[in-house]
Order: sequence, then structure tokens, then C-alpha cells
Amino acid sequence: MKTPNISFEFFPPQSLDASFRLWETVRELAPLDPSFVSVTYGAGGTTRELTHDAVQTIHKHYGLNVAAHLTCVDASREDTLAIAKDYAKTGVTDIVALRGDPPKGAAGFVPHEDGFSSSVELIEALAETGDFNIRVGAYPDPHPESADLDANVAWLKRKVDAGANSAITQFFFEDDTFFRFRDKCEKAGIDVPIIPGILPIENWKGVRKFAERCGTEIPNWLNDAFEKAVRDGREDLLATALCSELCTDLIDGGVEDLHFYTLNNPALTRDVARALGITPRVVLQDVA
Ligand code: FAD
Repeated sequence: MKTPNISFEFFPPQSLDASFRLWETVRELAPLDPSFVSVTYGAGGTTRELTHDAVQTIHKHYGLNVAAHLTCVDASREDTLAIAKDYAKTGVTDIVALRGDPPKGAAGFVPHEDGFSSSVELIEALAETGDFNIRVGAYPDPHPESADLDANVAWLKRKVDAGANSAITQFFFEDDTFFRFRDKCEKAGIDVPIIPGILPIENWKGVRKFAERCGTEIPNWLNDAFEKAVRDGREDLLATALCSELCTDLIDGGVEDLHFYTLNNPALTRDVARALGITPRVVLQDVA
């Protein structure tokens, strides 16, 4: 089996304790030599400064290629582009451009009166500057706001036509879901890399709730397996085994890149990476 390129998603810390957890995660996963890491932007645009600081620190201190998430929520076009330009000035030229989730409790996305009204508008504006490698979100299980899978793929095509260079998918549970989506994208003329987003399941109850909100299909066999594993206290073992199997099936089907949603917890991602044959780069001065 070919060893895949891997990348990681982190979220910015909102407390001292969370900061320690993030740095521990970065310290543990950086030696796995990720092709890039990304840092999320809180729902409702709530972590603007924290995301910025986490991106800069990871970029500066770990020398990793960092992709900064940027959304259209609750910000004018001018402010949003100013954030992106500031990143470019410091050498961070990778952006995950999203419409974004509304703040907690809001019924849906409402554009800021001077803001971008969709991800496509944000992508166009970033592409116009010529400064960025633009990544976007994609949804193998259709996004809750899309009419059906075809409409979902058609919208991704618009994002690519607007200037997206690659797409990272929402998490999904079965390889067939990804391959069906990849085939539809290919037929629709989408010719940029589509990187599967992989969620090692740390807490089944939480993941199930999140999946329901995102419109991610939950197979019955998976729910049954986790309910038994939770009962028997071997949730981590099942999570590692299933996630490694999903990744292996994706690689066997031609996937070359995997993006892990780490949730700032390195253990499961590290174990899955090891199962895929990816081991830490050892720096002699660290062990001498
Ligand atoms: P889009 O792709 O623009 O829209 C989502 C779907 O809605 C489309 O597939 C399409 O079917 C439909 N749609 C939307 N507008 C139209 C239209 N005008 N016409 C027709 N169909 C339309 N959220 C955050 O808040 N912060 C983050 O950091 C963050 N990171 C993410 C990273 C990844 C890899 C992914 C996949 C998602 C992330 N999200 C994040 C969640 C994301 O913001 C939500 O899923 C949001 O609801 C959609 O954003 P998007 O840019 O993917 O939307």
C-alpha cells in the first residue's frame, strides 16, 4: 500500500488549558511530516484573533505549511480581505475559504450588509488577488442546505470555477460515500484534488450528534458497533481499527491525501497514521 500524504485540522484554543492541549497536539503530530495543517475559524466568526494567533504561531515556531480557515460570517468584505492580506504578508498563503456556519442559536446564514453573500464570492475575491492557494469545503453526504447530491456537486463546480485549487470534504463514514461523490465530481468536470476529511471517532455520542447536524449519513452497523464498544469500554480500539480500515480502503481506491480532523487530540490520529505506515521523523538532537 502506498503511504498517503497527510494533513491535520486544529482549532484555536479559548483557554489556557486548551492552549496546552493544542501545543501538545502540534508537538506530537508535527514529526509525522504533514503536507499542511489547518486552523478553524469559530462558528459565527467568533475566533478571528485566536485563529490568527494560532496560525502565526504554528507557522513561525513549527515551520509547518498552515492553511487559515476564513469565513464570510459577520464581517464586511473589506475586513475579511484585510485578514487574508495580513496572512499573505507573513507568508501564510493557504486559505480554506468558507461561507461559514452562523453563530449558535441563529436560524441560518445571513450575509453581513457589506459582506460576501456566499463562499463563491469570497473565493472570487481571493482568487483575484493572485496571492493564495484556495481550498474549499465539499460534502460527500450532501450539505443540509443543498437540494440533492447533483446540486451539491454543481455548487462545488461553481467554487472551482471561481478559483478554488482543491477541496477538503466533510467527514463521512463509508468509503463508498466518498467514491460516489468523487465520480460525480469527475463527471461534472471538477478537476482539482478532492481530499477526504477523516474524523477519528473519539466520542461516539458527540460525533453522532454532530453528524446529524451536518447531514452525514450514519450507517446502522456503525451505531451498533459503537454502542457495544462504549458498553465494553473499548471505544478507542474500535475507533482506531475502523478509521484505519476506512483510510486503507480510500488509499486502495486511489486516494493520495488524507486530512485528519484531530479535534486537538493527537492520540487517535497518531495511532491511525502508524497503522498506515507513517511514523514520526526522529530528530537526533531530540533523542541525544
Ligand atoms: P458552501 O459550499 O458555499 O455551501 C454549502 C452547501 O449549500 C453547498 O454544497 C450547496 O449545496 C448549498 N448552497 C449554498 N449556497 C448556495 C447557493 N447560493 N446556491 C445553491 N446552493 C447553495 N465552519 C466554520 O464556521 N468555521 C470553520 O473553520 C469551518 N471549517 C470547515 C472546514 C471544512 C473542510 C468543511 C467541509 C466545513 C467547515 N466548516 C467551518 C463548516 C462550514 O462553514 C459549513 O458547512 C457551512 O454551512 C457551509 O460552508 P461552505 O463554504 O462549505 O458552504
